[in-house]
Amino acid sequence: MNAEIISIGTELLMGELTDTNASWIAGRLPALGIRLQQVSIIDDDLPKLTEAFRRGMERSDMIFTTGGLGPTQDDLTREAVAAALEETPTVQEDELENLRQWFRNRGQDMPAHNVKQAHLIPSAQFITNRNGTAPGWWAEKDGKHIIIMPGPPGENRAMWQDEIDARLKTLVDSEVTITRNIKTLGLGEASVDEIISEYFGLENPYLGIYSKADGIHLRIIARAMDEESAREMIAPVETAIHERLAPYIWGYDDETPELSVGAALTARGMTLATMESVSGGFLANTITEAPDSNRWYRGGSVAYTADAIIAAGVAPDVLAKHGVVSQPAANAMALAARIATNADFGLGVTGVLGPEEFEGHRPGTIHIAICHGENVHEFPLRTPPRRLVIKRRSCNTALTELRKLITEVAP
Ligand code: ATP
Ligand code: MG
Repeated sequence: MNAEIISIGTELLMGELTDTNASWIAGRLPALGIRLQQVSIIDDDLPKLTEAFRRGMERSDMIFTTGGLGPTQDDLTREAVAAALEETPTVQEDELENLRQWFRNRGQDMPAHNVKQAHLIPSAQFITNRNGTAPGWWAEKDGKHIIIMPGPPGENRAMWQDEIDARLKTLVDSEVTITRNIKTLGLGEASVDEIISEYFGLENPYLGIYSKADGIHLRIIARAMDEESAREMIAPVETAIHERLAPYIWGYDDETPELSVGAALTARGMTLATMESVSGGFLANTITEAPDSNRWYRGGSVAYTADAIIAAGVAPDVLAKHGVVSQPAANAMALAARIATNADFGLGVTGVLGPEEFEGHRPGTIHIAICHGENVHEFPLRTPPRRLVIKRRSCNTALTELRKLITEVAP
């Protein structure tokens, strides 16, 4: 099956909004065996949208759209699908009652405009939207499918998980594509490429290499008639990657550095505490992105100046002798954080955020320390001198190095 995605909205074309819906949908299709052949962005404009649906129906088996399902006059996706399929929308009493109920549950009366969202054409069915007022439509005509979803990511992703994914699985039963992501840190892209060079350049399984903020990612993609065969094709490449790159691997698939650390700590019943200066809270924020972080994160402090670092438990003479931007300072911060909360691991991050130099060090000079008991492991780092890059890199490095260390000290 071939598919295309149309992202709908004038905001997208004005550069006010980045189209993350299309890339999210694109990421779900390979595993379903659906081949994406085109992504377009179209204005909230009835003639242009209608034309886009007509042309899409000629070249694709499926069209996915997001946006333009709101109650206002500039939301025209439903109207365009109806026009392209030459059908007339009519109001559906059941759906209208659902909508009224949705507003009643929030202590409101339904505005008259929302009646629009209870309209349907004969060849479509509603897709329930548990997070908003606009239901989606699944239209099916002449063997072609048009699946329209609302714009807000929280709404369309929930719809996908609740209904769309399962229904697509029943439709597409030919080829399956399985993807395996392996995430490394500590080696450059060229070195990783060289170590596993013979696996690149094959079509199936395909091996891709990507440089990301949290290291070098390797993606193996295999296509086969069923999931098991696809997994068998992935296995030898994955084994080779493991044999050659094991010390650098910190995670798989959708794992993030914080999820990976969380899983490793939880499995061992261990805990973490942090003290950060240069990352300004980014580290604690990143860690608490993990939904179960309350089970393994004791807490941390943002100590942005020498005085604050001392107040948080670091001996003044360490800073006087080596400076705030130094490995000994990071080491002392990691230890102080660990001891203050009686955690198993302590993490200290110091450095220069810029834009000016500090203590004679240029922006992007970072020192990370991880302690386990009294043992301290040192990770000096240099990043490009941009603020967000400095914060992101120092946190990702701290967490991925911690992830590797946990398995070393507590196998
Ligand atoms: P609403 O009922 O909220 O108006 P809608 O289906 O009409 O929903 P739009 O008005 O097109 O959708 O977009 C609503 C919001 O959804 C946007 O302001 C934006 O936050 C988000 N959104 C829309 N399209 C995209 C997209 N392609 N990628 C990411 N976010 C999007
Ligand atoms: Mg809208």
